[in-house]
Amino acid sequence: MGNRAIYPGTFDPITNGHIDIVARASRLFGHVIVAVAASTSKNTAFSTDERVDLAQRVLTPYANVEVHRFEGLLANFVRQWDAVAVLRGLRAVSDFEYEFQLAGMNKHLVPEADTIFMPTRENYSYISSSLIREIASLGGEVGEFVHPIVREALAERLGKRAIKK
Ligand code: ADP
Repeated sequence: MGNRAIYPGTFDPITNGHIDIVARASRLFGHVIVAVAASTSKNTAFSTDERVDLAQRVLTPYANVEVHRFEGLLANFVRQWDAVAVLRGLRAVSDFEYEFQLAGMNKHLVPEADTIFMPTRENYSYISSSLIREIASLGGEVGEFVHPIVREALAERLGKRAIKK
């Protein structure tokens, strides 16, 4: 089966930037597990189950990719799956400081796994879930940045909110 990598995040919702990281990682690792954080201090637009469902549906083309929710400490999830790597995408230098700190802490907590940073594809550097949510809630077009399934879910969830106001 090969080595396992965990790709953790909030995925609220999954964007083309995330999908690109998963696609590239699926060629490097035997198995990629997208870990959708359940307990988060963030106020999410989509529930954990919805975020998992959206990710699952858009990632079906990748045979060696699975989507699971995780609660609590990422380090425990990594150990539970016997993963060798934690994947994180980097969009800009500004991502780096926090990510570097996170990687250091995770290395301390799970010495047997390493954090692997993947640079975003140039055209995706300005895509973030929060910006996508904002554009969608203001009635903007997000079809270039997300899968059609996600676009529909966003229109359904946030588009109506904008119209109601
Ligand atoms: P978190 O709340 O943990 O930052 P996100 O869902 O926002 O979770 O992102 C998960 C991971 O995907 C992070 O490593 C983030 O840097 C990365 N990521 C987000 N958007 C992009 C993008 N457009 N290109 C590459 N990586 C990205």
